[in-house]
Amino acid sequence: MTFSPHIIKELLQSSDHQLKELKETYALLPETRCRRKAQCCSMLPEMTLVEALPVIRRLVEMAAATRNRLIKKIIGHFFLNPVEITLCPFLEGQECLIYPDRFFGCRSYGLWSPAHYETLAARDRRAKKHLQEQWKSLGVCLPKKVVDFQVPYCLCVETNGPVIIDDKILVQASDTIEAISAGFSSWHQLFGQRYFSDLSFLLSALMFGHIAAVQMKFTLVRYIVNTKNRTRLDRIIQELPDLCAMLT
Ligand code: SF4
Repeated sequence: MTFSPHIIKELLQSSDHQLKELKETYALLPETRCRRKAQCCSMLPEMTLVEALPVIRRLVEMAAATRNRLIKKIIGHFFLNPVEITLCPFLEGQECLIYPDRFFGCRSYGLWSPAHYETLAARDRRAKKHLQEQWKSLGVCLPKKVVDFQVPYCLCVETNGPVIIDDKILVQASDTIEAISAGFSSWHQLFGQRYFSDLSFLLSALMFGHIAAVQMKFTLVRYIVNTKNRTRLDRIIQELPDLCAMLT
């Protein structure tokens, strides 16, 4: 079982209720500002399926030139993220191009207590270590600076006005979003388990097929680690067709 453009189209057409619930849950979180604007957007956050869908819809509705540029960045991110800190593909200059639909991970960043953030960071470190070992077992040694990279805890995020927000409220919001997404039943599980909650994986798999995207990633990452040469990848990205045309 894998996602196809047809399945994504069906999910987009039948998800108004879930997307409304997602918006209502996002609205429980305070608006924030940060003087280090966008400096923390150094990676594409993990997300649930229900968070990915409005972003796909936004991409589909963008002007063709903009969405094609963005999709090329997202797919480039999928292939390059084991070897480079690529920044979040939605970041342009200091602006997030999908700000109204940004993910829970973006909205909650800087609002967690330092202790809870450290728990999340420790889980992330374990996942990266595991990933590094998997690549190693395939004969590819990922760059240490990428494996060790973590977004530091941010003390610069402030809420707009006095708002009570704590870990309990954030965990509740996160659980609610998970429950809304679980309404997509097996598609929700599939996105977490076979696509690792990664929109860049989903879009790359829609473009090339799930197995082909994984095989291409392995070949390209091994080649780039060994040669430091990105020409092959750049050529593939340059020639990508308009994915969103398949989703309309
Ligand atoms: S989606 Fe937007 S807010 Fe979130 S990390 Fe990317 S650029 Fe930053």
